[in-house]
Amino acid sequence: MIFVAQDGKCFYCDRPLWGAVESKGKQFDSNHTIDHVVPRSDGGQGGRNLVIACLRCNQDKGHRMPTEDEIQRAIALHNKVAYLIEAFRGLPLTGWSYSKDAT
Ligand SMILES: [Zn+2]
Repeated sequence: MIFVAQDGKCFYCDRPLWGAVESKGKQFDSNHTIDHVVPRSDGGQGGRNLVIACLRCNQDKGHRMPTEDEIQRAIALHNKVAYLIEAFRGLPLTGWSYSKDAT
């Protein structure tokens, strides 16, 4: 569901998250990773702390703390996710592999 709320784009750089990608000389099947806005090492949890980032941004970000702007955007994103979940309630479920982690 986060994937839909982010329009299939990276939380940080807005690059599309579809398709294979090459990063640091390695080939990856897909260009998306689940990123913790507040790093786990600094007490960040799952749930509303999760966004989808492209591989490169996730690697570049490492363990730095989010900026105030990123925190605000993550909050806005998850408000949108909550809205979408409500809007989709009652519709037949298809095999959406991210719904488990995104809710
Ligand atoms: Zn990115």
